[in-house]
Amino acid sequence: MLSDQFGRKVNYLRVSVTDRCNLRCRYCIPQDGVSLKKHEDLLSFEEIETIVRAGVELGINKVRLTGGEPLLRKGFPALVKKLAAIEGLKDLALTTNGILLGPMASELKEAGIKRVNVSLDTLRPERFHQMTGSDHWQQAKEGFEKALTAGFEQVKLNVVAIAGYNDDEVEDFIKYAMDKPIQLRFIEFMPVGNKFWEKGKQLISKELIERISTTTTIVSLPPLKNSITEEYQIVGSPATLGFISPLSHSFCRSCNRLRLTADGFLKPCLASKYEVNIKVPVRAGHAGNELRRVFYEAMRLKPKAHKMDQGYSDNTRHMAEVGG
Ligand code: SAM
Repeated sequence: MLSDQFGRKVNYLRVSVTDRCNLRCRYCIPQDGVSLKKHEDLLSFEEIETIVRAGVELGINKVRLTGGEPLLRKGFPALVKKLAAIEGLKDLALTTNGILLGPMASELKEAGIKRVNVSLDTLRPERFHQMTGSDHWQQAKEGFEKALTAGFEQVKLNVVAIAGYNDDEVEDFIKYAMDKPIQLRFIEFMPVGNKFWEKGKQLISKELIERISTTTTIVSLPPLKNSITEEYQIVGSPATLGFISPLSHSFCRSCNRLRLTADGFLKPCLASKYEVNIKVPVRAGHAGNELRRVFYEAMRLKPKAHKMDQGYSDNTRHMAEVGG
């Protein structure tokens, strides 16, 4: 089992499979452009598999595939199949913006994805265009809805809550979720890798919960082990509401995750500059002990806590590279 100097155990690896994205969300991707990695600098599927296998030997049992937009990676279902076949990996999940999900949902379910999170921050196409630069709102929404019928164990709808952007849609999202067996999650806007963040744009979960309680009956649910989500049942609905509060309610003390960047670095914390190169040993043909050493080094560098609540992050990469 991977454990760090603060006694935290890590069993969860988030893998960015590409730094490419088909959206240009103003809060996520720097608007002055990003320099994308060359294709040969990205990990191949075989390399990702080797790294995940090494992680599983050390107690990783949960992997989430993200990006960039993971569904842009050519042949993506083949990667899912490779990872799903790893003995000891109990949970294989996906985070996507949903645009390409509709036609792929059943194939991904068959390949071994168990749970899907779809990120959709607005129910208004014109707003979507304004924030993301894309006209594909309809495809994103249809992708999400297709996921609901494809047989995944769990489907979540992730909304980054940003004051002055989508704070007037909170009730609309709840209405939309009302007849669906989903978890609708509001995520606090984090100051990571982009200058768009300002304190005034944050929506604090506690205030959102108070506001929602005035119009909707919600009941607090007992926290699940290692969960970073404060969860509520919407009374009279199959949907639950989740609140992720990396700023107002830091969950660093129970952080159980590492991240693998698309270009092959292990990162111990989203808001930290620390990272350890695992691509070089993998490309040199090392396995076993050599790779385990890289995992241990990433664990050694895992900071006790981030300071995102103070608007501080020294992570120099944008979210798509690290895997949001
Ligand atoms: N393309 C995929 C997607 O859209 O879900 C996966 C990558 S994206 C970087 C993962 C998640 O990170 C999205 O839900 C996105 O909204 C979220 N995200 C990006 N920047 C963020 C920020 N500064 N604060 C909070 N969430 C952020």
